[in-house]
Amino acid sequence: MTAHILDGASLARSIRAEVGRRAAELSAHGRQPGLAVLLVGDDPASTVYVRNKVKDCEESGIRSLLERMPASTTESALLSRIRALNADPAIHGILVQLPLPAQIDARKVIETIAPDKDVDGFHVASAGALMTGQRGFLPCTPYGVMKMLEFAGTPLAGAEAVVIGRSNIVGKPQALLLLQADATVTICHSRTRNLAEHTRRADIVVAAVGRARMLTGDMLKPGAVVIDVGMNRDAQGKLCGDVDFDSAAKVAGWITPVPGGVGPMTRAMLLVNTIEAAERA
Ligand code: NDP
Repeated sequence: MTAHILDGASLARSIRAEVGRRAAELSAHGRQPGLAVLLVGDDPASTVYVRNKVKDCEESGIRSLLERMPASTTESALLSRIRALNADPAIHGILVQLPLPAQIDARKVIETIAPDKDVDGFHVASAGALMTGQRGFLPCTPYGVMKMLEFAGTPLAGAEAVVIGRSNIVGKPQALLLLQADATVTICHSRTRNLAEHTRRADIVVAAVGRARMLTGDMLKPGAVVIDVGMNRDAQGKLCGDVDFDSAAKVAGWITPVPGGVGPMTRAMLLVNTIEAAERA
């Protein structure tokens, strides 16, 4: 069997177009959505991520406010900047690019963002809302994965889903979203005894580990939907996922590529959250 490719880049394009329509509507009523992006320091990867987010906003009619702060910025200076943005009615979403320099407590920073502007969905109020099935903001990566599953027409109710990884930003919220959609969910992690035993039972596997090509075709059930969140560099410096694409694509029913899979969807869902924040405001 050769898997269908779940093309995140193309799905993200259609989501961005829809965001553009909603942004135009808000702007026509004098309420252009606005996203503040705070970058502390000059980490090269973070600089690229932030540049892409700003570009996405511009293309979708969302006003972006990029604030670059020096690596020596104190925690209290960053917190007071966030408080000012919390009070700014032209700003609907606030994103602080992680990681932050060592002198700044990232948890404190995230908790200072007003929950109704928490478009990254990392605030404890957003996590609590997800846990209890209330309205909040969903973290962009698992939110994007759910959109991809919807696009592929994957039946979720009663499906066996395995999430590999239990981070607060991907694995745990992903598992909760799948559970909310009535899947039977197993969460695997570094202490899981026999990973393949779990993944071979799964109709849906979401790999969010950060280990290049660790999930191979022989670990999959034929026809499974395989979502690769991982972004790694292999020994040759090439970008690759957690899934060994070549062997997995021979077994899976659907598979996401890296690049061009979950990454563009994560970016698109940030725009969706920003529009939702502006519409709710
Ligand atoms: P974390 O490092 O926070 O979490 C990794 C998880 O993988 C942990 O729960 C860890 O288990 C688990 N793990 C590690 N080794 C194994 C193993 N051998 N078998 C099973 N589980 C294992 O990473 P993130 O969740 O932040 O990110 C995961 C990957 O996704 C990274 O490659 C990251 O770059 C990528 N990513 C991609 C995004 C995108 O838009 N495409 C967005 C966000 C992340 P334990 O808890 O026991 O340590």
